Amino acid sequence: MALLENIYDKSPIFLQNLMVSFSGYQRNMNRYGKIYFEYLNFLSDFDSWSLKRKLDFQFKELIEFIKYAVDNSEFYRKLYKDIDINSIRTMDDLKKLPVIDKEMLRGNINEVFTIPRKGAVEGHTGGTTGKSLFVLFTQEDMMKRMAILDHFKARVGFEHRKMKRATFNGKHIIPPNQQRKIFWRYNAACKQMIYSSFHLNEENMRYYVKSLNKFKPDAIDGFFMSMCDIAGYIERHNIKLEFTPIAIFPTSETLTQSGRELLERVFKCKVYDQYASSEGAPFVTECSNQLLHLELVSGIFEHIEKDSNEILVTSFTTHGTPLIRYRIGDAMVLSDDNTSCKCGIKAPIVKEIHGRKLDFLYRVDGAKINGGNVSNLFKSIPNALIRAQTVQEKIDEIIIKIEVDKNLYKPEYDHLLRNEFVHKFGSKTKIIVEHVDEIPREKSGKFKMIINNVNI
Ligand SMILES: [Zn+2]
Repeated sequence: MALLENIYDKSPIFLQNLMVSFSGYQRNMNRYGKIYFEYLNFLSDFDSWSLKRKLDFQFKELIEFIKYAVDNSEFYRKLYKDIDINSIRTMDDLKKLPVIDKEMLRGNINEVFTIPRKGAVEGHTGGTTGKSLFVLFTQEDMMKRMAILDHFKARVGFEHRKMKRATFNGKHIIPPNQQRKIFWRYNAACKQMIYSSFHLNEENMRYYVKSLNKFKPDAIDGFFMSMCDIAGYIERHNIKLEFTPIAIFPTSETLTQSGRELLERVFKCKVYDQYASSEGAPFVTECSNQLLHLELVSGIFEHIEKDSNEILVTSFTTHGTPLIRYRIGDAMVLSDDNTSCKCGIKAPIVKEIHGRKLDFLYRVDGAKINGGNVSNLFKSIPNALIRAQTVQEKIDEIIIKIEVDKNLYKPEYDHLLRNEFVHKFGSKTKIIVEHVDEIPREKSGKFKMIINNVNI
């Protein structure tokens, strides 16, 4: 791998484009086989089913999946040894099965696996909790997962691999000592221009915008904060866009309302969110009516307790590393009203997806202020903010790092910002505003709006 990287880094850009495309075609073979196309057809049909028929189907899949896990995974065979699987007759009976968490999986991962590593598709979870997990997917499951995602995009008009997409991700496609201002590479296998998230700074931004205007993508996907950075730049500099995408599909980061509004305003199209995870959770997707629905075909979401929003997932596309009643660490608020969405899809509506565990700041009394609320505190500063990050190392202190547009930023904004935070966090929290030239990104290329290192 290191050798390949070395060759890649030393090659001219046109050759790098070929290499990116070649590995794209290779990956496509794992993702877009016969099962993918059959499943895609099935999903279109599934959308037209009644809720009752979908729930019956989901339950049937569940029973099959549990039996598969017991038959093929040493871990589940041991875990369920005193449980009569045949006594699970309703969704409520699922509670007879124990809850599993990341630590249990990790400690026993070789017994959890049902397939050898060779020939499997590998997945890694990073996650804000800092614990990583390595999982295996069967090729069939990977194809189904791709089909579910592509079907979600097709519902709102974007056809994957037929239309052009611009992707902002954390792939290392730009060699460390590249001099030219070309921060993207083309993957012909998916008609995809991949833009590096690592080089997005004020100075380079105009090259990105120029490239987007030339490429004219039908959809933009990838890291939410990177897309917001670009959109913010376009808006601040009043740049005319020469294309209108059909849709924007953010992945892997929690969306903020203000960021969503910014993207929709600048790119003049809608943002469609999705919930999935690298360990293979079932999907939640946003519909044409911009509401979130459970994808019942992909698995089961339960609340861990009646009064808690924290969820357990059972995912039907995890035959390699079965997830049954898995405590994934996320929370969701489900709506009581499940059938009235104008989009026509009969599936439960998710009111809200709460971000990953550490996506919040503490107030002195220990109360958590979540990322969405924190991002709202920056709204009072019109347009002058390039990027902001809040860092909490002590429970009674919050450091706000800001990167500002020096032409638009006024000194009194510091005071305004501090006031907003004091209002939310109380006067016992010390608020420090720090001006910086550039806020660094994570190693993954993602940008963290909140860094919380407080343990209570
Ligand atoms: Zn809907």
